[in-house]
Amino acid sequence: MSYSFDVAILGAGAAGLMAAASARKGGASVVVLDHAAEPGRKILISGGGRCNFTHLDAKAENFLSANRHFMRSALAGYTPRDFLALVERHDIAWEEKTEGQLFCRQSARDIVSLLLREAEGCELRFNTSVRSVTKGDVFCIQTDAGEVRATNLILATGGLSIPKLGATDLSLRLARQFGLPVVPTVPGLVPLTLETPLPELAGVSLPVRASMGKIGFTDGMVFTHRGLSGPAILQISSYQNGPLDPPLIDMMPGVDAREALGAIKKARPRAEPPSLLQELPQRLARHIAQNSLGDLTCTLANLPDKRIADLAAQIASWRPRLSGTEAMPRPRS
Ligand SMILES: Cc1cc2nc3c(=O)[nH]c(=O)nc-3n(C[C@H](O)[C@H](O)[C@H](O)COP(=O)(O)OP(=O)(O)OC[C@H]3O[C@@H](n4cnc5c(N)ncnc54)[C@H](O)[C@@H]3O)c2cc1C
Repeated sequence: MSYSFDVAILGAGAAGLMAAASARKGGASVVVLDHAAEPGRKILISGGGRCNFTHLDAKAENFLSANRHFMRSALAGYTPRDFLALVERHDIAWEEKTEGQLFCRQSARDIVSLLLREAEGCELRFNTSVRSVTKGDVFCIQTDAGEVRATNLILATGGLSIPKLGATDLSLRLARQFGLPVVPTVPGLVPLTLETPLPELAGVSLPVRASMGKIGFTDGMVFTHRGLSGPAILQISSYQNGPLDPPLIDMMPGVDAREALGAIKKARPRAEPPSLLQELPQRLARHIAQNSLGDLTCTLANLPDKRIADLAAQIASWRPRLSGTEAMPRPRS
């Protein structure tokens, strides 16, 4: 049997449901097709299960895009405050974690419910696999549950991350099929792996500034069994030129490490070397002192200033040797 709609949307995630709601409000008949059994599975795991649904200071410069102007017009048309107003209209309790960063107080499920309510009047079909799409006068979408015809087609099957949650490259393939330019995909927001992992430091976290050239993020970093993660690392990973390109990591952000270490030597000449790094977590301080100074029993007074300066440089501008990233294998076509 064949059905006909003004708009067919592939993907019932955040983008597909927002598009559905907006098209429906404009008076269109809308069908949303998704191969998953339920909508918005990625939303459910977002923000640690509480969905970081917007950032009040989001600006075009915060987005990576081949077209710098796109985000400018997108954000001018729909602002973070507009989404916050929508959240409040749906009586969803929210909280500000760090400045401007807004999360659901209860659960990311509240955002999925909001989107479903907004998309009322649209036909949502789950467990529906798309076999092929062709275009004559209208788009003909062949699914395992029959043909769907639509005047307009919106591709919203999302990014490639987490295939276990249903991610596929369907939209990318269809975009290519219909001659739309496609930017090559690269993993973003991924933990990095170290050439020589430091499992003994796993779980140690500290604030750092991680940078690549002029771009830098001051935020948390955490040592993992295989490498480095935490918000500063995840964010800077999107700016790497290839998975082996290491960021520069300052482990004492906002502090002149050389001056700070010099002052500690002066104030505590009889202390042992790890106390030079008293601002760092203890396990990390011992590890760095051991590796760069060797003898941990001497007193600070006996440490030449040159070695302290070298240690400060190592802390303020660490370039880790990387073996790659934790990016997952891509879904198969
Ligand atoms: C661990 C994690 C945490 C995150 N935290 C946040 C956060 O806190 N805040 C935030 O804004 N973003 C967060 N994100 C990103 C967020 O998940 C995405 O920005 C958002 O889900 C993208 O929406 P989308 O609609 O483009 O894609 P998706 O939400 O992935 O939706 C795509 C839909 O298409 C369907 N689909 C895929 N292939 C097919 C196919 N072949 N046939 C039919 N249907 C198909 C899928 O089943 C899915 O329902 C996080 C992502 C991850 C992985």
